Amino acid sequence: MAEVLVIGAGVAGLSAAVHAGRAGHEAVIFEAKERWGGLLDHFHLDGFRFDNAVHFAFSNNDHYEAVLGLTDCITHRPEPYNYEQGRWLKHPVQNNLCPLPVEEKVEAIKGFVERPERGEDSNYGQWLVEQFGRVIAERYPGRYTRKYWTVPAEQLSTDWIGNRLYRPSLEEVLFGAMTGETPSTYYLPEMRYPRRGGYSAFLEPLLEDLDIKTGREVVYIDPAKKYVECRDGSREYYRHLVSSMPLPELAKMIEGVPDAVFEAAETLWATSIALVSLGFNVPQVAGEHLWFYIYDEEILPARAHAPYRKSPANTPEGCSSLQFETYYSRHKPLPCSGEALIEHVIEAAEKMQLASRRDLVVSDFRTLPYGNVAFDRGMIERRDFILDYVKGQGILPVGRFGEWAYLWADQSYLSGKKAETLPFMV
Ligand SMILES: Cc1cc2nc3c(=O)[nH]c(=O)nc-3n(C[C@H](O)[C@H](O)[C@H](O)COP(=O)(O)OP(=O)(O)OC[C@H]3O[C@@H](n4cnc5c(N)ncnc54)[C@H](O)[C@@H]3O)c2cc1C
Repeated sequence: MAEVLVIGAGVAGLSAAVHAGRAGHEAVIFEAKERWGGLLDHFHLDGFRFDNAVHFAFSNNDHYEAVLGLTDCITHRPEPYNYEQGRWLKHPVQNNLCPLPVEEKVEAIKGFVERPERGEDSNYGQWLVEQFGRVIAERYPGRYTRKYWTVPAEQLSTDWIGNRLYRPSLEEVLFGAMTGETPSTYYLPEMRYPRRGGYSAFLEPLLEDLDIKTGREVVYIDPAKKYVECRDGSREYYRHLVSSMPLPELAKMIEGVPDAVFEAAETLWATSIALVSLGFNVPQVAGEHLWFYIYDEEILPARAHAPYRKSPANTPEGCSSLQFETYYSRHKPLPCSGEALIEHVIEAAEKMQLASRRDLVVSDFRTLPYGNVAFDRGMIERRDFILDYVKGQGILPVGRFGEWAYLWADQSYLSGKKAETLPFMV
């Protein structure tokens, strides 16, 4: 019998086990995969290390800050770029229109000046027009939404935006249209990355004294009798259960789940990510860009980054690397095989003048089934209905997919910290 059983060994599950332990309760983690780390894990290919998509560390809370402080790291200034039809625009585009032809700048600024008043109950598409004007909204975030969120912006709510999209003044838009010398308006002043070991090196100090059982995928939960069953047929009784696995999957595996909860769980969806990772035997690719967004819809990836710029320890000496993220979902399936996507990305990298095929020494395709929780309209109510049911069964949901929210790593860590108070009934 486990005193505290935690499902999932991502940052939220690790945090839950650490904090339960600090509060004097013995915890064990069941992780489906053979490795801990979840989204913050990495993989190796012939001496190249790639994280699971672009990952930098930052924190808005002292608790995660204390964890980050234990590891030697490199500090980066966030200076992302945007690629569109052969041009590179600083980020965010709305106040960095300088590289565009004059006529296009005038159109964009005119649209900004004439943008409609903020409406009452706007969807994300309407919100974009109200913030940036129709020209900028449709040309940039509107197009990007179809690539990143896999649906038109009108289908999404505005609940997730927070400080993620910069809202410039007219002065800032004008300034950025006239000069490339604009100040950074990115929502973070700096980002950190371990000098060695990939992002997950930040989490290694948490592992001390943790009991992580890998290869244990939970497939069934009986909250009345207080046990879980794993895919390998094993059964584990618990006193308290914490779950960082995806909420819709969790809800559907609970014994006796009401039809209404099951049906609500069926409506929740997340984007998935197809990662194409490329290694090159030349010391530099991709200009100066640490990471960048791609607006052209004929290029499938929405975003890419240069792992070797996060830390030189991510590649063998004299080498460089790129990783591209293509998003798909139940609303927009991946249009081709992994092999075809690798080929497409290599061609795109050449077209964007980032790298040359002849320098390529490593290529890889893999998928992350859970990327970003989708905030389609009405999702919050349906999610909260499921969360209430799950908590009512004595299960504490934590983390990005457990709470079904758009959490950064520091927030996922904080979410796991809730396991320090037992019993964690609502
Ligand atoms: C593309 C992308 C980029 C991001 N970039 C950043 C960034 O730069 N900075 C930042 O702070 N955050 C970033 N994030 C967010 C960050 O990755 C998450 O907040 C964090 O990793 C979530 O951790 P978690 O433990 O909640 O979930 P996960 O990491 O998904 O962990 C859940 C674990 O549960 C396991 N599991 C699932 N089902 C079962 C089961 N049935 N039985 C047992 N185990 C199970 C999974 O295998 C997994 O290991 C990014 C996210 C994405 C998708």
